[in-house]
Amino acid sequence: MGKELQVNIAVNLAQVRERIGEACARSGRPPEAITLVAVTKTRPIGQILQAYECGLRDFGENRVEELEEKRPLLDNAWSADPPRWHMIGHVQSRKAERAVAVSDVVHSVDSLRLAARLERFAAQAGRILPVLLELNVSGEASKYGFAAWDAETLAAFETEIEPLATHEHLRVCGLMTMAPIVADMEQTRPIFRRLREIRDRLRERCSWSGWEELSMGMTDDYPVAIEEGATIIRIGRAIFGPADY
Ligand SMILES: *Cc1c(COP(=O)(O)O)cnc(C)c1O
Repeated sequence: MGKELQVNIAVNLAQVRERIGEACARSGRPPEAITLVAVTKTRPIGQILQAYECGLRDFGENRVEELEEKRPLLDNAWSADPPRWHMIGHVQSRKAERAVAVSDVVHSVDSLRLAARLERFAAQAGRILPVLLELNVSGEASKYGFAAWDAETLAAFETEIEPLATHEHLRVCGLMTMAPIVADMEQTRPIFRRLREIRDRLRERCSWSGWEELSMGMTDDYPVAIEEGATIIRIGRAIFGPADY
């Protein structure tokens, strides 16, 4: 309880917005080009309401169960101007139906099997679901995502995703990745740059999608991600304070 009261979300958010502005200025990009997703996993409803009051309209959760619990509580409060809920964590294929029901966007499509299940349930719901493909560009074994850490895996990925072009109820908007945890955020730059280069390549070769979005950058590395072309950043701790995820 005490901890919840200590967090000044308005102050934290002002700092994040300032750093977004600075990173945009350094890279000649307009701040409106960046969508800030506030990552609310493990955070209490009271803090999420505060974030909404500060003007945030994009929220991210990494577990279907947690989003199922929170969303109904918040939807009532916000029916006039609802935010968008982003599913940013790994979704097991068997939870695809539930993920479609609670998510406005899914960032973490990491297999064709999951994509096919999302397609099926989006079709049943009469919706077109925006999704991003999660890529593992660092090669870390602990990471989810399509393998894309060298020329060989990238070529295989491009062939593998061809069937997605036929999924009429999914709108593939772009790519997502998670950088490794490092001591100096500068070390994440090659990872973000690589995701952008892959996106640029897909734009030329896989014209069935616009590939407009790059979801990359978290609390420890978002200024670098913005410099490398992020269009969506996913921020938890810088807004809501430290957490043990
Ligand atoms: C938790 C989480 C974030 C936010 O992390 P912070 O370091 O708190 O900003 C971003 N993306 C994903 C996929 C997450 O699980």
